[in-house]
Amino acid sequence: MTEHIRYPTQDLPLLPSRSVVVCGGGPAGCSAAIAAARQGLNVLLVEGQGQLGGMGTSGLVSHWLGGRRKDGTWVVGGIFREVSMEAAEQGIALLPVVSPGQKYTPHGWYLGLIHGVPFDPFGMAAYLDRKMASEQVDVLLHTHVVDAVRVEGRITHVILYNKGGLQAVPAQAVIDATGDADVAARFGCPFDKGRDDDGAMTPVTLEVHVDGVDQEALASYIDANDSPRFRALIADLRERGEWPLPVDILISVQLTEPGTMMLNTTRLCGYDGTDGASVTRGMVEGRAEIEALVTCLRQHVPGFSAARIKTVASLLGVRETRRIRGEYRLTVADLMRENTFPDVVGVSCYGWDLPDPKKPSHQPMHGKAKPALTPIPYRIMVPLGVDNLVCPGRAVSVERDVMGPLRVMAPCMAMGEAAGIAAGQVARDELPFCQVDTDALRTELSRHGAILDGVP
Ligand SMILES: Cc1cc2nc3c(=O)[nH]c(=O)nc-3n(C[C@H](O)[C@H](O)[C@H](O)COP(=O)(O)OP(=O)(O)OC[C@H]3O[C@@H](n4cnc5c(N)ncnc54)[C@H](O)[C@@H]3O)c2cc1C
Repeated sequence: MTEHIRYPTQDLPLLPSRSVVVCGGGPAGCSAAIAAARQGLNVLLVEGQGQLGGMGTSGLVSHWLGGRRKDGTWVVGGIFREVSMEAAEQGIALLPVVSPGQKYTPHGWYLGLIHGVPFDPFGMAAYLDRKMASEQVDVLLHTHVVDAVRVEGRITHVILYNKGGLQAVPAQAVIDATGDADVAARFGCPFDKGRDDDGAMTPVTLEVHVDGVDQEALASYIDANDSPRFRALIADLRERGEWPLPVDILISVQLTEPGTMMLNTTRLCGYDGTDGASVTRGMVEGRAEIEALVTCLRQHVPGFSAARIKTVASLLGVRETRRIRGEYRLTVADLMRENTFPDVVGVSCYGWDLPDPKKPSHQPMHGKAKPALTPIPYRIMVPLGVDNLVCPGRAVSVERDVMGPLRVMAPCMAMGEAAGIAAGQVARDELPFCQVDTDALRTELSRHGAILDGVP
């Protein structure tokens, strides 16, 4: 967009003042809101969709990764472990374990996914409603954060839009958990977006859940062919002109109900999750790919002959947009050298995973050694150029490939929890986020059951 008009200033209704406004109700935002409320703060959580949970619910990526090891031990504790266990007790989530000698696990497309926490997306959204009510977090759904009022280096008000029109909320501290660093960008904080050389971003995916899958037939095929991602079958189908997608792998993850699977297989290249027209095209193309994919699976892929579309995501699966420039930038070299940091607030046990922007089946970091745990220094959440804003979740300050291990949802929850506790210091002591006492933060995180270094 090159041409502009000046939009007239107007008087906006003022909503009640808050100690903390959390922008975005995904994994990072929900956990930040709970943690901030537990600090005794008056919290408003603002979410653009009609439910909380972010990519896990509205995006149908109903499978938290990065917080449990394959043996079922936790590397992310605190709110992630708490909600996983509560949701499992309530029959909304599963905590899969692998039996000795088992090769294919029905809860993942290969054994490596046994550490995930699959859940029912509707059940999770309803659970999060109850959780926020019990934690005294006020929530506004179907409400978009559109701007931040700036006075010198601080945000004084967050500007919201919903069916009531534009409104302003005075805030002492603001947590930008939009995943896209929307608030930081509106404020004018520096950020990076996409690859350094061409700005290209990893492909987007529209998620679909199917039911009616014959798990036994699927597992037998995978076992017999040692092919959890169906590469050979897909290559054959492609040669015969029967495989309809650009991607060469089928990623299917069983959810809580046997026979119900999440298909993470559409891959659309050249999209931008911060551009409304591009997101619209992604939804339209994503739905077209899903129709073609499910038709093909029913005809050709073992286990899927009676599969039916159960539900399609209402939120496009965007893996990558803006990354803030923060007080620290975590690099690939940091991980390779196993550098340690005094302000670590948690870890991820997930690996490299950021598909090539132009070759959707290719992982540029595949095969590169990396320590099992990726640390999360607090400073990667603190954007430059603003005092009272913190940015947990997938938009943190990292070298692009470091998004792979950190963008999955359990570490995003760990970041959110740390951001929510840090907001306590910012709101109470009128500190900028960059001056938060990280020793005190780490002590408080531990007091709430967080695992700082991956060792429970
Ligand atoms: C296709 C795909 C597959 C994935 N697979 C997995 C997986 O299997 N397991 C896993 O753990 N992770 C997976 N991930 C990664 C993970 O889902 C995300 O990186 C993670 O959800 C990021 O968490 P977040 O809280 O930062 O952002 P999000 O989950 O994106 O949440 C951000 C929330 O903010 C809201 N929002 C955004 N902008 C605004 C605004 N301006 N105003 C108000 N609300 C706003 C959004 O509606 C959303 O609810 C996958 C991602 C994709 C795209």
